[in-house]
Amino acid sequence: MAMGTNAQVMEYRRLGRTSLNVSLLGFGASPLGDVYSVTDPAEGVRAVALAIENGINFFDVSPYYGATLAEERLGKALRGKRQEVVLATKCGRYGLNDFDFSAKRVAESMEESLQRLQTDYIDLFQAHDVEFGDVRQIIEETIPAMRKLQKEGKARYIGITGYPLRTLRKIADAVEVDTILSYCHYNLMVTDMDEVLTPFVKGKGIGLINASALHMGLLTEQGAPEWHPAPPKVHEAGRRAALYCRERGVNISDVSLRFCLDHPSVSSTLIGMATTEDVICNLKALRAASDPELAAEVQKQIGGAMNHVWKSGKPENQG
Ligand code: NAD
Repeated sequence: MAMGTNAQVMEYRRLGRTSLNVSLLGFGASPLGDVYSVTDPAEGVRAVALAIENGINFFDVSPYYGATLAEERLGKALRGKRQEVVLATKCGRYGLNDFDFSAKRVAESMEESLQRLQTDYIDLFQAHDVEFGDVRQIIEETIPAMRKLQKEGKARYIGITGYPLRTLRKIADAVEVDTILSYCHYNLMVTDMDEVLTPFVKGKGIGLINASALHMGLLTEQGAPEWHPAPPKVHEAGRRAALYCRERGVNISDVSLRFCLDHPSVSSTLIGMATTEDVICNLKALRAASDPELAAEVQKQIGGAMNHVWKSGKPENQG
């Protein structure tokens, strides 16, 4: 279904020093891999088409999402539309506990992703969840292997993704990367990305991507999935915040997304989508006026659960 093609209201930002112009609202494709719930593949295809019609050009996926299902489905959904989008995928993570950041696997992973995504190049190739790797290997082997793929024309740019902010910073300080994707460190529940990462990437001209605008589904009416790593007090705070919004006739997801979109240094905010309804709601939030006062009120409801962080990755890569 069309919702009035309105691509001109979409804002595009340059991704750091790359030549990529990405939509402020980015399409997170992990839900296409049934990571959150079982989704209808045909509806996923419609969601991708509707997003593109409405100016969303940045799509992020990984072989990890749904054990390659999200890449397969995104590849099908992008048939005939590949040139209209900036396509990001990842390498290094293949399962909950399945990581391989070796140069050999990086090269194989690229070939597999190209096949599944039905393309011959990736715009942004990212090392996925680097905190689960050996930082030295990422710096000395993984990134150079990714640069080699860039020289071969298979990747236009390369980046890193992960959760612990200082580990992302440490890697990007030691070896040149074009982008950093950080998740669950900037949304209504948490803002520490701005203390640790934002000034650093600005100084280096690295493109900044902020993912999980809804704190991986926690800032939604339906609540977070089973596997969500936050402790009960954070889930309770999310429910409190959702109720507060509901009582004011607004939706918690719209408020959190709007808050993320207002960030001046983030090139694209990724929100996971698998249905046309998700796309329609998120485009509506994009077009809504900023309301910093409402965001501050909701954050008051979150109270002591603000800025709660969890462990992710190897013990030496926390922080
Ligand atoms: P998210 O916070 O965006 O939440 C996604 C969930 O919210 C899904 O269940 C989705 O259907 C639902 N949703 C979307 N819009 C909604 C709306 N308007 N109202 C109610 N529910 C809505 O979490 P995410 O999907 O994990 O993060 C976004 C994307 O960022 C991912 O898909 C992925 O592409 C990327 N990401 C990358 C990493 C990494 O590289 N390490 C980590 C996290 C996220």
